[in-house]
Amino acid sequence: MDRRDVIKKGLIGVGGVAAASVISAPAIARERMEVNMVSTWGRDFPGLGTGAQRFAKRVTDMSDGRIQINYYASGERVKAFDSFDEVASGNAQIYHGAEYYWKGKNPGFAYFTSVPFGLTYTEMNAWIRFGGGQELWDKLSGEYGIKGLMCGNTGVQMGGWFRKEINSADDLKGLKMRMPGLGGDVLAKLGGSPVSLPGTQIYENLISGSIDATEWVGPWNDQFMKFYEAAKYYYYPGMHEPGAMLSIGMNKSWWEGLTKADQLMINAAASMENDVMMSEYNAKNGAALRQLVDEQGVKLRAFSDDIYDSFGEAAEEVFAETREHSPLVAKIHDSFVHSRKEVGSWARISDQAYVSQRNRVLGL
Ligand code: CA
Repeated sequence: MDRRDVIKKGLIGVGGVAAASVISAPAIARERMEVNMVSTWGRDFPGLGTGAQRFAKRVTDMSDGRIQINYYASGERVKAFDSFDEVASGNAQIYHGAEYYWKGKNPGFAYFTSVPFGLTYTEMNAWIRFGGGQELWDKLSGEYGIKGLMCGNTGVQMGGWFRKEINSADDLKGLKMRMPGLGGDVLAKLGGSPVSLPGTQIYENLISGSIDATEWVGPWNDQFMKFYEAAKYYYYPGMHEPGAMLSIGMNKSWWEGLTKADQLMINAAASMENDVMMSEYNAKNGAALRQLVDEQGVKLRAFSDDIYDSFGEAAEEVFAETREHSPLVAKIHDSFVHSRKEVGSWARISDQAYVSQRNRVLGL
């Protein structure tokens, strides 16, 4: 037998082993899995709810039905704000929601939805994927037995709905406004009273006068909520949520028990939703805004520079206090600030400069 024969036989041998493992693969086919998924959104709520439902269906479809996700909208299994505990305890395996809803457990969670003067969608993706954001998020969530992944984004949110014009920061004093996350803390610094309510309860509170104002998301979602029936002044841009990232949180032990292939599939499905949801918001906000102004009598207003300066000063105070919470929150804050500086200075001469010139020339 010459050398070439040995190599040939060796290759055949290797090929034989490979063929055998391909043939035996179905024999070790993984078992069908039932997964309970809860969420902080009402069933079929445009964008947020439909995006979470789309993610759940995508995982089932990608696994050819092997991973069956039983999806429960807000209130169908647990209340919206109980979703985290339901998954941390192992009663359910996945939640879809916004991390800042868990700010009461640890203020560090706010950074993984959006914070005042925070990151836009593209900037947030840069921080989470390449700026150390995911690692810090894993550390924070890990302390509660949760593994989080990006799974949607609303983009820049509107400043909110008001019954009266807001001409100076003084007009925010005494205002009872629905605003979750650190944005609510900024409002409190300016003398307002922030309230955190799940989406399903905002309209009834606004129409009854229990709250004076509310922020929610943007034209597409806010039109669906009919806030224009209770408040006519619609302010932009929101300083509090410049790119609200949505997320899935999974029971950490469950996640770690999955095969690498299943982890990758769930990761891919979540990453796809992160992109698809943002595309849908961008595609639908413009038309909804036109209808709100032209057909529903909404008065569009921009926050003045003076008001924005007040927001900025209050946000710095809120950040200084938040950072004091713990060494981990300080690390998260510092990492966020570092990324904001890097991606923000690039955005200034790229996206911001270009869009500003294009819209000026075209009169958009
Ligand atoms: Ca919001």
